[in-house]
Amino acid sequence: MPLSGEEPLFDRAARQASAPAGRLRAVVTGGAGFIGSHLCEELLCRGYAVHAVDDLSTGRVANLAAVATHPALRLGVASVAEADVADRVCVDADVVFHLAGVVGVQRLAAEPLDVVQRNLRCNEAMLTAAARHGVPILLASSSEVYGDGPVPFREQDPVRPGVTEGPRGGYACAKAMSEWLAFGHAARSGLPVVVARLFNTVGPRQSGQHGMVLPRFVAQALRGDPITVYGSGEQTRCFAHVREVARALADLAEARGVAGRVFNVGSEQETTVADLAAVVRERAGCGAPIVRVPLASVFPAGFVDPVRRRPCLQRLRRAIGWVPSASLPAIVDELLALGRAGGLPDVDAACVRSRAN
Ligand code: UDP
Repeated sequence: MPLSGEEPLFDRAARQASAPAGRLRAVVTGGAGFIGSHLCEELLCRGYAVHAVDDLSTGRVANLAAVATHPALRLGVASVAEADVADRVCVDADVVFHLAGVVGVQRLAAEPLDVVQRNLRCNEAMLTAAARHGVPILLASSSEVYGDGPVPFREQDPVRPGVTEGPRGGYACAKAMSEWLAFGHAARSGLPVVVARLFNTVGPRQSGQHGMVLPRFVAQALRGDPITVYGSGEQTRCFAHVREVARALADLAEARGVAGRVFNVGSEQETTVADLAAVVRERAGCGAPIVRVPLASVFPAGFVDPVRRRPCLQRLRRAIGWVPSASLPAIVDELLALGRAGGLPDVDAACVRSRAN
């Protein structure tokens, strides 16, 4: 029977009573990734025993450096796209946060088949394993499912992955399909499931290697390179700090009235990409020029760059009292300081220092 939406994802008190040493066991797939590593830290702070699982295709062991010696953290290097791995990680879990997946628009543009197949495979494997073991699962989905629909995007809006002849919609469709798989398992076996549709998330440990705009702009500004605004620059995004997003994911798993539902997770402060470039340049205090790069020169023909993206957060606010507080300039300042100190994946601090001297 589908869950009514009145239930929490899992009964923490009951699970805790039977957990070893009273510590709830959380699995975080993609646990060495950008968002996953912050979520591991958040869950460790809340007293969970955390099993991070990552195939290290884009995740980095270094992302977990701050908690590497924590006695309640275990990192397993494996791909949850393999059914036996997915099965093994679910056996002893009280709750699963399934974040593993392939992201990045540049990857999607270059390898659309790989991106669609890998996302579908790992989602199907994890959902099947979670259903087999009856383990509650929070599935990370994406704002991409809304495509270029009218903002603000509401959870009950129809998904709009786009045309099949264009490469971008495949990722959105794989995410939407995974949501249907999750709710299909909920209907068939009563699998407790919550879907979190993540909007643009930024912060420490994010790499711009596969497209993500803010780490690219920050690295460009620190190097004194041109800041590359694609297209008109009038397209908008809302950027949430990764630590706040991690907190929201943990809160969602622990909140009442969430099972069987979808939640937008992100910021609703809408910024144009041109304004983002201006903020980065201003906070960096550098003279880096801002240049316009035609979309056609970075993406293949037919690649759609959504014009606006903004979530409605009413449902999330009701469930967890979500009030993100990190402002964009504050996030940019944090990243610039990290970059100067050698703490960003794309920035060579020695090169930044030699520029400053
Ligand atoms: N973008 C840009 N310059 C870059 C990288 C990205 O102007 O060097 C733009 C991109 O075209 C998009 C926005 O920034 O409009 C956000 O891109 P990102 O890849 O971070 O996320 P998504 O498109 O998935 O929201």
